[in-house]
Amino acid sequence: MPAQIHQFMCLQDNFGVLIHDPATGATASMDAPEAGPVLAALAETGWTLTDILVTHHHNDHIGGIPGVREKFPSARIVAPEKDRARIPGADTYVSENENIKVGNLTARVIETPGHTTGHIVYFFEEDHLLVAGDTLFALGCGRAFEAPPAVLHASLQKLAALPLDTKIYCGHEYTLSNAKFSLTVDPANEALRERFAEIESLRAANLPTLPTTLALELKTNPFLRASDSAIQKQLAMSGADPAAVFTELRELKNKA
Ligand code: ZN
Ligand code: FE
Repeated sequence: MPAQIHQFMCLQDNFGVLIHDPATGATASMDAPEAGPVLAALAETGWTLTDILVTHHHNDHIGGIPGVREKFPSARIVAPEKDRARIPGADTYVSENENIKVGNLTARVIETPGHTTGHIVYFFEEDHLLVAGDTLFALGCGRAFEAPPAVLHASLQKLAALPLDTKIYCGHEYTLSNAKFSLTVDPANEALRERFAEIESLRAANLPTLPTTLALELKTNPFLRASDSAIQKQLAMSGADPAAVFTELRELKNKA
């Protein structure tokens, strides 16, 4: 049976995501940015929390865990092995290519260092569903806080190789600001211009711009397009190494 998804806002601009297996009733909270909204989402859906799958150690992704656990003490906490020291007290620590079951659903762990060294994402292979945390955003990517941008670039290239119809859930609603930046580096991209208009109207109506798809990101997200000749030309970097182009894009966005 396909997974059911419930997405909602937490804190200022974080997304909460519940993934539910209707066959077994298992439900995972993807990170736990804030206890109140996660518990409200569980009450609203009537789903019983069984798992909390953590992408990385930042407080806006794990800060809600204690409050959620108080209400669901048996929920299993899954966290990145490489963040064992920074996310103490998890029940299971996972590494590259490990499979995690949420009821009958299976998530494959993909290590995506860059935003943080321990960052992982969860790919529900059968459902073509990716929970990307702060590695990949709609029209953007996370800041490279704990590694050189080239490391983040390599991580994003791993995600770019997933099936084109992969549905992507991200950690934050940053899409409008990302779209504005994207247009400055890829102004002639027709698909991007169209998407910008859609994003503006969604945000004007206070609606989420997520989930996105890998196909759409590959066409419009400059951080997945560092080898694109139009972007390279716009940056006066024609023929440059895509990792160097990505680094420049990341630095320009940091200053934007
Ligand atoms: Zn983060
Ligand atoms: Fe975050």
